[in-house]
Amino acid sequence: MFAFAPSAQSVVPVAGSPDVLFPVHRIYCVGRNYAEHDREMGGSGRGTPCFFAKPADAVVPINPKKTAEVDFPPMTENLQHEVELVIAIGKTAKNIAVEQARACVWGWAVGVDLTRRDLQAAAKEMRRPWTTAKGFDQSAPISFIKPAAEAPDMNNAELWLYVNNQEKQKGLTSDMIWSIDEVISEISRYWTLQPGDLIFTGSPAGVSKIEKGDVVRAGCSGVGTIEFKLV
Ligand code: MN
Repeated sequence: MFAFAPSAQSVVPVAGSPDVLFPVHRIYCVGRNYAEHDREMGGSGRGTPCFFAKPADAVVPINPKKTAEVDFPPMTENLQHEVELVIAIGKTAKNIAVEQARACVWGWAVGVDLTRRDLQAAAKEMRRPWTTAKGFDQSAPISFIKPAAEAPDMNNAELWLYVNNQEKQKGLTSDMIWSIDEVISEISRYWTLQPGDLIFTGSPAGVSKIEKGDVVRAGCSGVGTIEFKLV
């Protein structure tokens, strides 16, 4: 028996079959995976990508037919958006070779890695972890998951994000420093990837500050579009 009722399993519905739910195990994220974003963050454009994580219950699945509401987080004066291709893992993988990595992909989503940029800057300055900057409640709005069998080649997908109908981000997954398969392989060297894991693969340039009341619309070609309002 449990000491108290366990919390609900985090889930993301499957695109086209919203009664089918993808159970979220962990959320991994790649930092600095696009040269131009590395430069806008003060890097050289040739930095080595890094990994961080968000709690599984940070996901906010967004129905493509509705504008969702996402809580504006406390403790920040500089919340920023990062549109990213998300890999949904469907197989256990440990130390997997780059060539075998794609077989672990169950599907794809588009997600927004919401970031308390002021807390992240302070953490970098003090050489402290990014947890408060990246791993907060509702920090991972995400589309329904498109099964891999129904999606095109995501190595050359277009990512875009608008704030209040103004274009902020536009990028191509082909510009990732570490490719989709390299990201999966590299993460599997540090952790055992499990069915239900999500991987946010990094953001192209153009990140900017967003405020309460702003409407964010983001998409990825071949996957879908999401829209949410910060409340
Ligand atoms: Mn990111």
